[in-house]
Amino acid sequence: MVRVRFAPSPTGLLHIGNARTALFNYLFARKNHGKFILRIEDTDTERSKKEFEESIIEDLKWLGLTWDEGPDCGGPYGPYRQTERLHLYREYASKLLSEGKAYRCWCTKEEIEKRVMSVSSDRTAGYDNYCRNLTETQIKDFQAQGRKPVLRFKVPHKEIVVNDIIRGNVRFEPDAINDFVIMKSNEIPTFHFAVVIDDLHMQITHVIRGEDHLSNTPKHILIFEALGYPVPMFAHMSMTLGPDRTRLSKRHGATSVRQYREKGFLSDAMFNYLALLGWSSKDNQEIFSREQLMQEFSLEACNRSNAIFDPAKLLWLNSQYMRAKSAKEIFELASPFFEKVGYHKSILHQHRDIIEKAIEMEKEKLKTLEDVVERTGYFITEDISWDVELTKKFKTDQAVRVLCTLKSNLEQIQPFEKHNIEDMIRKFCQENHLKTGEVFHPLRFALTGATKGPGLFELIELLGKQKTLKRIEQFLANIRV
Ligand code: GLU
Repeated sequence: MVRVRFAPSPTGLLHIGNARTALFNYLFARKNHGKFILRIEDTDTERSKKEFEESIIEDLKWLGLTWDEGPDCGGPYGPYRQTERLHLYREYASKLLSEGKAYRCWCTKEEIEKRVMSVSSDRTAGYDNYCRNLTETQIKDFQAQGRKPVLRFKVPHKEIVVNDIIRGNVRFEPDAINDFVIMKSNEIPTFHFAVVIDDLHMQITHVIRGEDHLSNTPKHILIFEALGYPVPMFAHMSMTLGPDRTRLSKRHGATSVRQYREKGFLSDAMFNYLALLGWSSKDNQEIFSREQLMQEFSLEACNRSNAIFDPAKLLWLNSQYMRAKSAKEIFELASPFFEKVGYHKSILHQHRDIIEKAIEMEKEKLKTLEDVVERTGYFITEDISWDVELTKKFKTDQAVRVLCTLKSNLEQIQPFEKHNIEDMIRKFCQENHLKTGEVFHPLRFALTGATKGPGLFELIELLGKQKTLKRIEQFLANIRV
């Protein structure tokens, strides 16, 4: 049975690259009818925050990635938060120590650095195995000095081959790794140790993670072997880069799932887009439903070259998903965005029909849920605001005359429907030898505060007689002063 895990460290918001890792694990589990596990790696106690764990969980849920075992829902191999599993790491550490596969190291960072620098100019050359063979007297001395030891893994001298599903065999020379720390002096495991103990204890069959962890993998393999556990399969996915091909970071703008969510991107679109970051189908299809992805995804089809995160493509994909939704669905999804900018729930509810019709009219142009507010909010707002600079353009005697007449003409229209409205306005243009733009532009601006939008006559019909007249009147008052 396939068992995979997503193991975020709660030290920030869910990054796009990590969300992609979570998604690939999820898709692989679902395709293979296996289990997808969420594990919180919070042993970095200084940087880990409960709020980040909560927001990561919330964003994963928003993406629709459901896990079978995790800190919130439990499972047979719990707890699923590393700080709650310290007893396990200590148990395995003692085993390695008693079998002579790990040893206590008493050196300070400064001492190691001094020794390393005396034989090499590379400060980062690594540990020199100094404490591997200490005498009893040396150990007693260190103890007497009150030093607290770390536990180091005794790295055997051999080549290590990572058999990676995406990258093939990756070889590491015998000297590539020095004896590394597995337990810190405060008895908290290092990342390398905790991750292996958890993977073996949780019976993880495939470790699917970012390529940035590839260089850690030989260490992990050695620990599995030392403890006599089978080594899982590995798949290291290419990194996610920004459009300028540097590692995706804040410099590139929004990089977390939360930021896109707050900008009004849809979960379906994000799910689809993340799948395209480093994976592609044979025929380069771009739009996939969740079910299709669960069917078609495979680790073998993941690219070795880095994926480029392209916000413009995500926006395009989002607009495709917006189009495919009904006005009713969009209304539901956009409601929190209306509320965020001050529209009260009850107002929204009261004007639901109007907004849904407006959504229908603007469907092709709605790229995000924020656009919905911007492009339809003016239908229901009571206090429209006209941009001062744009308003100046319409502060002409002609515009005032046009709007005054139109106002009284519109007042007469019965029933207030788009055909009647159109007939009247077009006739007005003809009779007064005015170009349509000279009439349509000020009228649209007066009614919406915008210079673009849906068809003018439809818009007026939907706005209704009362609001139409009121807005023209308010706008006239505004440009007359
Ligand atoms: N906690 C690690 C990270 O956030 C993941 C480790 C792993 O997947 O093995 O990068």
